[in-house]
Amino acid sequence: MSRQVVIIGAGAAGIAAARRLLAERVNVHVMEAEAIPGGRCITDTTSLGHPFDRGGSWIHSAAINPMAELARQQGAEIIEDDPGALRAVVRGHARLNDDEFKAYVSAWRGLADSRAHATTATIDPAMDTFLPGEPWGPYIRHVVALLSGVDPAVCSAEDFSRFERAPGEWLLPEGQGSLLAAAADSLPIAFENPVHRIDYGSDPIQVHTRRGTIEAAAVIVTVSTAVLAAGTLAFDPGLPASLRDAIDGLPLGLLNKVGIAVRADSPLAAPGPVLMHHASADEAVMIRPGFANQPVVCGLVGGSFADALERQGPGAATAACLESLRAVYGGAITRDLGPSVETTWRSHPWSLGAYSAALPGHSGARDVLAAGLDQRLLFAGEATDPTLFSSVGGAWRSGIRAAEQYLAASGQRSIPA
Ligand SMILES: Cc1cc2nc3c(=O)[nH]c(=O)nc-3n(C[C@H](O)[C@H](O)[C@H](O)COP(=O)(O)OP(=O)(O)OC[C@H]3O[C@@H](n4cnc5c(N)ncnc54)[C@H](O)[C@@H]3O)c2cc1C
Repeated sequence: MSRQVVIIGAGAAGIAAARRLLAERVNVHVMEAEAIPGGRCITDTTSLGHPFDRGGSWIHSAAINPMAELARQQGAEIIEDDPGALRAVVRGHARLNDDEFKAYVSAWRGLADSRAHATTATIDPAMDTFLPGEPWGPYIRHVVALLSGVDPAVCSAEDFSRFERAPGEWLLPEGQGSLLAAAADSLPIAFENPVHRIDYGSDPIQVHTRRGTIEAAAVIVTVSTAVLAAGTLAFDPGLPASLRDAIDGLPLGLLNKVGIAVRADSPLAAPGPVLMHHASADEAVMIRPGFANQPVVCGLVGGSFADALERQGPGAATAACLESLRAVYGGAITRDLGPSVETTWRSHPWSLGAYSAALPGHSGARDVLAAGLDQRLLFAGEATDPTLFSSVGGAWRSGIRAAEQYLAASGQRSIPA
């Protein structure tokens, strides 16, 4: 009985870890706080009448992303998205002319590449070290926020530059969350059963859940770093300072989505040019018409702007998105719009944000967390992957890595080269 492994969380990392261990006939129990699997990668199939990923939707860097293989295995329909997809920028009500648009894109490319070219910067500087000045710096900082979830001033440039780019940006009309839900099918998951304390000083480890205590030879913790930092999941003894520092160095940024169903004959129904709308230098909404080949327009807000909207309360992000749609397409566009849905990931109690971004000076934190403690208290989840962090594929890969750590330590299988 005590040789079993308990996995905390049935998101991408937890599902992958469970599948890997079950393949080696390890006795596994997954404890999940929610009533469904997927965590930050779930497909909403009811709100809009079309599948809509509330969280992770793109399979980034498909050539090296394990979700691509899963999509193929499941025979999912795949759409190749345009990786350099931004096609127009609107400031206020005016579209940038060609020269301005080129300058905006080149300012962004310069920022994205600057870490690779910088020779004089400190070891692990903030992204805003490389931010150009007026006129484009104040605007393109929002691109960092939409990608990393945080503003450049609190984003480690070293970490940002480590995300591995490889060919292929895929979207799935049925949703990436649907892939995970199918992958979780028939796994031994105890739903609506949050874990509130892990006593790892004893052998076996005692895992305390809403529905009682379960013993484990090892525990794989896959909850977000924000959930770990919040302390609702307690450790006894408390975690060592190195792990606490690593968790604090990897706070979650915020990305929220607004999905709006549109009429089939609307210009917003078909996949079209990706637009960025800046109502002011402090605001940015990215607009994706025909999102994942569905008659749905998706608005995305990130960083401190997304946080401010979420704090304003329900409907604020939707209102910002509608303002952007009116500014770009004209007021009559609202006649094309149907039901809508908006996410509030910062308030979501079992996530507390979207995905991790290392603070400046903390780009080494992912490795520290991934090392875990004595091969029996192991950590997985997007924040622990060295190069696909912040993504579903990184989370999946980290679950396999943690399972392999356990297998190697228990002598059941060595870690492949
Ligand atoms: C709006 C948004 C857009 C995104 N876009 C993309 C994208 O396009 N492409 C991409 O690859 N990634 C994207 N991501 C990121 C991606 O979704 C996440 O990185 C990934 O899903 C994280 O998986 P995980 O397993 O690490 O964590 P999670 O999915 O958070 O899984 C952890 C699980 O633990 C559970 N849990 C928490 N606390 C407890 C507890 N005490 N006891 C038991 N269970 C608990 C949670 O309910 C959750 O199910 C996006 C995320 C968001 C929010």
